[in-house]
Amino acid sequence: MQDLQIPERLLLGPGPSNVHERVLHALKQPVIGHLDPVFLSLLDDVQEMLKQLFRTHSGLTLPISGTGSAGMEACLVNLIEPGDTALVAVQGVFGERMVSIVERAGGRSLRVEAEMGKAVPEDRFIEAIRAHQPDLVALVHAETSTGVAQPVREIAHAAREAGALVVLDCVTSLSGMDVSFDSWAIDAAYSGTQKCLSCPPGLSPIALGPRALERIERRAKPVQSWYLDLSLIGRYFGEERVYHHTAPVNMIYALHTALQIVLEEGLEARFARHRSVHQHLVEGLGKLGFQMLVQPAYRLPMLNAVIPPFEDEARVRRSLLTRYGIEVGPGLGKLAGRIWRVGLMGENARMEVVDRFLDALRELV
Ligand SMILES: *Cc1c(COP(=O)(O)O)cnc(C)c1O
Repeated sequence: MQDLQIPERLLLGPGPSNVHERVLHALKQPVIGHLDPVFLSLLDDVQEMLKQLFRTHSGLTLPISGTGSAGMEACLVNLIEPGDTALVAVQGVFGERMVSIVERAGGRSLRVEAEMGKAVPEDRFIEAIRAHQPDLVALVHAETSTGVAQPVREIAHAAREAGALVVLDCVTSLSGMDVSFDSWAIDAAYSGTQKCLSCPPGLSPIALGPRALERIERRAKPVQSWYLDLSLIGRYFGEERVYHHTAPVNMIYALHTALQIVLEEGLEARFARHRSVHQHLVEGLGKLGFQMLVQPAYRLPMLNAVIPPFEDEARVRRSLLTRYGIEVGPGLGKLAGRIWRVGLMGENARMEVVDRFLDALRELV
């Protein structure tokens, strides 16, 4: 059998995104014990840097061992007990996934749906909160299947007023656009390493506010999932540092470095970079006859849902990959075959990256 030979790709899909050299370098550092003081001090740094990214000063931040979906599942199964009601905003595939997890956890789900390519209207969602008085409200901030940004602040404040916990999916948004955990009144949020953090897939950074921690403490029954039980995981990531499962040591090095890179740039500068590079892409694709699925007010900068001006989208996508080493994402679910999802996440949100993509497209079509 031959040794691995992985081609260089430019990853302009919905994740993973390309990883910074410094992060790759971090990955190949020696493995040390997950209770080694050197490692524990790295964990302290990671947890502190995550607070800065989520913009929170209280509660607990930690990386769940698993991808973004593991963070989704951890937040929902710990905060929902059988019989609880969850009101979920559904604008695409990831909202659907939340509904499915709520129901598997024995919760009752109520959904407020968005029209395709739109956000859930705030007034309609707030009305539903007041009408149903749910125990929990769940929203996807950046719906990667449709490229829609969901306005959060008003909804989250209305939910808090009604006594509901708020869970926010920030898998695609964290470090690419503003996520303000404290000032928006979020109780639990989760992200993923492979989108705007430009780190390999494998960890799901989460933030839990005081109300979420208190809810977990007063559960009547332990969480069905031992692995994702945050009352157990929280003891390793809290003062005690008690063994629960072996932390994926080298992925924590990678996340540590990725977070440092984000904070060296500064959050506001990073958000502005994502916005301006997105604008450059929209203009370039417009000249090539592409249309945007989403209205300007609701467009995500890091995930562009675009409608190709040609029939055989799969063939062009394949040529981009095989001839130019460029990956773009296909449509998901109802949008399969109709759109492309062009990700400009983290390290890939660069003018020269957009130019390379547009040059390749001009040659192909
Ligand atoms: C990618 C993504 C997820 C799932 O993350 P995985 O790392 O694929 O498990 C969840 N929610 C949103 C909005 C995503 O974009």
